[in-house]
Formats: sequence, C-alpha cells, structure tokens
Amino acid sequence: MDKTILVLGGGIGGINVAKELNRKIGNEDGINLARILVFERNRKNVFAPSLTWLMVGKREEEQVYRDTKDAEVGGIEFVFGEIDSVNPEQKTVEVDGVKYIGDYMIISLGVEQSSKHHLDEFGQNFYTIDGASAFYDKLEDFEGGNIAITVSSLPYKSPVAPYEAAMLIDNYLYEKGVKERAEITIYTPESKPMPFTGEEISENVLQLLKSKGIKYMPNHQLLEGSENSLSFKTDTEERKEVEFDLLTFTPDHKCPPVIEEAGLTGKSGWVEVDEKSLETKFPNVYAIGDIISIVTEDGESLPKSGVLAQHQGDIVAHNIGRHISGKAANKSFEGEGDYILDMGADKAQKVKGNFYKNDLELKKSGIIRHWEKVLTEKSWFIKNF
Ligand SMILES: Cc1cc2nc3c(=O)[nH]c(=O)nc-3n(C[C@H](O)[C@H](O)[C@H](O)COP(=O)(O)OP(=O)(O)OC[C@H]3O[C@@H](n4cnc5c(N)ncnc54)[C@H](O)[C@@H]3O)c2cc1C
Repeated sequence: MDKTILVLGGGIGGINVAKELNRKIGNEDGINLARILVFERNRKNVFAPSLTWLMVGKREEEQVYRDTKDAEVGGIEFVFGEIDSVNPEQKTVEVDGVKYIGDYMIISLGVEQSSKHHLDEFGQNFYTIDGASAFYDKLEDFEGGNIAITVSSLPYKSPVAPYEAAMLIDNYLYEKGVKERAEITIYTPESKPMPFTGEEISENVLQLLKSKGIKYMPNHQLLEGSENSLSFKTDTEERKEVEFDLLTFTPDHKCPPVIEEAGLTGKSGWVEVDEKSLETKFPNVYAIGDIISIVTEDGESLPKSGVLAQHQGDIVAHNIGRHISGKAANKSFEGEGDYILDMGADKAQKVKGNFYKNDLELKKSGIIRHWEKVLTEKSWFIKNF
C-alpha cells in the first residue's frame, strides 16, 4: 500500500467517492491497496434530500441520518474534526494540529450555510435537520394564516427543494383540513422556478404551483426579516413588506472558508474545475459536488445536487483508480443527471438528461416516481452504512 487519497468531506459526494474508490482500487477487509482518509467534522451523516419529508412529518429525525463512523469499512478511515487548513500544492490537510499528506485529494466540502438577516430568529432553516424538525413542530400547531417559503440568496443547493417543500406543505395542510385557511407563498430572487431546466419545464412547475394555489413571487431580493414580516427589493418596488405567520427559508450559501483560504476558488467564489475531469488547477486535486461552480451552455449555473455530486465522484474515482495502476484516465463527466420533485400525495415528477447542455426531459409523473425517490433514500443508507 503506497498511495494515500485524501477525501475532504464525508457528506453525499465524499462518502460516495470514498466507497467508489475503495471498490475500484480493489481494497477489501484486510487487503488495503491504497489508504483512503475521509475528513469530516460531523458525526451525524444527514441525508439532506429527506429533509423536505422531515419538515412535514413524513419522516422522524432518526430516519434521516446515520452515524458517520458506520460508513467506515476496510480501506476507508475517517478523521473527525474541523479541517483547519488545506494545501493543494502539497496535497496536505491539517486537523487538530496533525498534518496528513496525500497523493491525491478530492474536495467535497459542500457549502457553508449561514442565516441571512437573522432569519433563524423568526423562522426555520429547513436545510438543517434541526430547522426542518422545528418547522414541523410549528406546522403541527398551525391552524391557518400565511406561510412564507423564502430563498435567502443565490446560489443555493438543490434549487428544487423550495418547490418541493411548498407542495409537501400544501398536501399536509390539505390532509389536515386547514388548506382553505392557509396561503403558501414562495419568495425568491430567481426569475423563474429552476431556471437550469429551460422554459418548458420551468413553466410546468409554475403551472403545478398555480394548480395547488401556491403563490410564486420571483425577483424578490430579501432585504430584512423581523418577527412577522419580510422586506424585499423587487423589479418594481425599492422596498416591499409582506407578513407571515410561519416562515421557512433556505440559508445563505458560501464556499467553506478553509477552501477559499487555500486559493482554490475562482471568480465565482467557488472552486473552479475542468468540467470533464473535475480536476482543479492543481494536479491530482479534484473537487466535486456543491463546492464547485460550472456554467452550462445556456449560461445557467449547474445545480448543486446530490445526484450530480455522486456522478462526478464516480468519474473521479474511476480515473484515480486507473492512474494508480499506471493507466490513463478514460472517463469524463458529461453533465448527465436527474432529479425527482416530490409533489405531495405520494406523487412525484422526474427530470432527466444533460445538465451541461440544458437538454432535460420531463418524464411521466406519478406514484412510481415518488417511490423511486424513496428508494434513492433507502439505498443511500443500505449501500453506505
Ligand atoms: C432540503 C434539501 C433537499 C435536497 N434534495 C435533493 C434531491 O432531491 N436530490 C439531490 O440530488 N440533491 C438534493 N439535495 C442536495 C444534496 O443534499 C447536496 O447537493 C449534496 O449533499 C452535495 O454533496 P457534497 O458532498 O457536495 O456536500 P455535503 O453532502 O454537504 O457534504 C459536505 C461535508 O463536508 C463537511 N465539512 C464542511 N466543511 C468542513 C470542515 N471545515 N471540516 C470538516 N468537515 C467539513 C460537512 O460536515 C459535510 O458533511 C437537497 C439538499 C437539501 C438541503
């Protein structure tokens, strides 16, 4: 065993790439052909796509996470703690004063979340397990009024999630018999839902929201939040005040500072990589998942999604595996992926295709799509823990 691979981040991208590498390299219990170190600060591995179910009581907290350590198998070791510094030139990582040196480095540290304009004092961030759970506590007591779902800023991961959240909340209220006394409104700086999908699919989502009576307020830049109101700058108003009884929001996202300090970010503020190999400007240093920024053919941002993080990781693992055995890389990431938007009442729709080319197809929606999404959740836990 003479090669060491440092995987920064043990979330969706990191765990997937570590497992895939382990398989490609041929590690198994007792036979470690390469050492894979995964650096992670969180002992709880939360499967974020399940948070929209948690926020409407379709999941219990215990169902949406596992102990990160349980992902450890022969060949993969976890190093727990905050990554203090990263040196991509020397391929080193420092945690708690200990320096680790690798031959390859894969960065999958996701995004650093923060609460813009103190929104967490007045509402719940459903992008965390605590926030999604606290939102459900409020929803259970909700007997009517205005529910605001606010996108704090762009970009944000899973740009499908606010729409999914709105439809699941709508369905919850319908089942509880309070839909008639409630109004759900989505406020977002985006000009349309999921712009990376193109006109037709975006319009389809808009019509879906409309059919459920969910209000959509695009081009709303959040200015401030207070106890029961939000203010926005819009195309036509310098300051527009709206009132809410229940608020949930997506947090502000930025690149983890440790990666910025390492000189790995570009003009976008995120890590820039070769879009096919996912290699950074530093040889044998790769980045995948939410931390990267890629612009698609239509000039839209490649969405930050778990499915894409996994596809990217599969390619990187394959090519590193070949490199270790002296062969040239022979696979590239071409932008293929999909997402499933759960619409409530156990129905979902799926979009699949090429995200780089903005060439996406809306598949037939229905119950099977919902169960496909459930299966993705189950297989994540079964495969990795
Ligand atoms: C509500 C919600 C719904 C979603 N739904 C979907 C969906 O339906 N389909 C889909 O494909 N995607 C979905 N996503 C997006 C998906 O979860 C992310 O795109 C995916 O997790 C990205 O993987 P990643 O490895 O890049 O980042 P992450 O999974 O966030 O992993 C990053 C890891 O790095 C660790 N880390 C960060 N900084 C440090 C540090 N300094 N030291 C140590 N560790 C550190 C973090 O603790 C974290 O575990 C959803 C996300 C949310 C929030």
